[in-house]
Amino acid sequence: MSEQVQPARHFIGGEFRDSLSGQVFDVISPVTEQRVTTAARGDAADVAAAVGAAKQSFDAGEWSRAKPSFRRQVMMKAADLIDARYPEINRREALEMGHPIGAPVQGPSRSAWNLRFFAMEQELAGNHSFNRDDNLLTYTMADPVGVFGIISPWNAPFMLSTWKLAPALAYGNSVVHKPSELSPLSIGVLGEIFQEAGMPAGVYNTVLGYGKEAGSPLVEHPDVVGVSFTGSPGTARDIAARVAPQLKRTSFELGGKSAVLVFEDADMDKCVRTVAQGIFQNSGQLCIAGSRILVQRSVYDRFLEAFVAESRKWMPGDPLDPATKLGPIVNKAQYGKVTGYIELARKEGRVLSGGGRPAGLDTGYFVEPTVIVDAPPSARVCQEEIFGPVAVVMPFDTVDEGLAIANGSDYGLAGYIWSESQTTTHYAAARLHTGMIWVNCFFERDLRQPFGGVKQSGLGREGGQHSREFFTETRFVAFPTTPR
Ligand code: NAD
Repeated sequence: MSEQVQPARHFIGGEFRDSLSGQVFDVISPVTEQRVTTAARGDAADVAAAVGAAKQSFDAGEWSRAKPSFRRQVMMKAADLIDARYPEINRREALEMGHPIGAPVQGPSRSAWNLRFFAMEQELAGNHSFNRDDNLLTYTMADPVGVFGIISPWNAPFMLSTWKLAPALAYGNSVVHKPSELSPLSIGVLGEIFQEAGMPAGVYNTVLGYGKEAGSPLVEHPDVVGVSFTGSPGTARDIAARVAPQLKRTSFELGGKSAVLVFEDADMDKCVRTVAQGIFQNSGQLCIAGSRILVQRSVYDRFLEAFVAESRKWMPGDPLDPATKLGPIVNKAQYGKVTGYIELARKEGRVLSGGGRPAGLDTGYFVEPTVIVDAPPSARVCQEEIFGPVAVVMPFDTVDEGLAIANGSDYGLAGYIWSESQTTTHYAAARLHTGMIWVNCFFERDLRQPFGGVKQSGLGREGGQHSREFFTETRFVAFPTTPR
């Protein structure tokens, strides 16, 4: 971890730049707790420069009015360049937020696939056309809107950024991206990649920095037409309040406390393995983590025994070691939050397994995979997003009781159902109040389908036509086809 890492800089108008103020902040390794490098600390002046460059590029039309086939070619080339540089991107993520290079979220090709998918979608998806009563031909058009503000979190920094950047850019918009202050390194390759792929300067811009200093001026900037945000509900509320006077479009992908329903007829081996992955992968720092595990009482003891044994296979280690599956928690503050919840669990219930610092790891924000039991569904550890490798396991008797516990949450991002019965899975899927439901699997995506949550887990959907609707202005034209 003692390698030299270049300071991270903004990317504005096709150039890497320092902050106008000259300010930087430290990027701290969650493994060594030491400084890895510094990053430019953006503020309103840097945001104004980036939005200015983006607006100029949008108005010039080199990208916004380009043929869809040209945009497809550029995005496809950029996707190939992402693939080619993936080891470097992975390494940067490991340095900035501790993600293990051997355990990528959604596989190495997902970020490139985000670009390829929207490159094709924008070219191939048809607009609606109707012929009303054989006398009025109508059709719709989907036009780029302008400059979008994209704000992303640190937990899967590269993949989640490309999930929003890809559609925003593919549909012809210009963007200013504000990645998390905890993960300013991996995203640095994108400026070079888009430039090499042939995207005109000013279309893609990044401003690094803190939420209040760089994020707030971005969402408030009058030339920013909309904000796509992934992060916590508290930040989404702040953004919503700031953009309300300007009536901007927003899309919010937020947190979760997703329930896993394990019914007595589940394929137990597969279920235990996959459910463990669903909470321990990325140290539980996944919005769709299956963090509340509800198990039918007849198989509760059997599940718990196997699940605790499985959790011990997720022992943390150096994220740069390809054999490591579980890295550290991202930073000191999150580490304090996660260990605080583990202490709370000792009062609200019982820590059955884990809960401490892994042996042999004396520095770094490492937490053992932890299993909590005997806490009532109303307990804070069962209700609040811990965002760590911490599972709460609860028993239930009937299907309806399991569903009631699952739905007894302010969140509604993902739901997981484990059962071999079609009747049970369909019954439960129809009644689970979440934006997404996975049956007998974890986080398998089809990018044509919507991603997003209900209740406090989000507002709006992205994916396929949903991203298209958000990142374009749909307009309508009517022609009489008979004399009037
Ligand atoms: P966060 O809300 O603290 O920060 C997210 C981003 O917003 C960062 O770039 C941050 O700098 C910026 N920001 C902070 N305050 C801001 C403000 N006032 N105005 C504008 N921007 C501001 O969230 P986080 O801790 O980075 O991420 C973790 C959260 O994200 C968890 O709740 C997790 O569940 C959620 N998440 C959701 C999804 C999803 O798709 N639903 C995916 C990943 C993470």
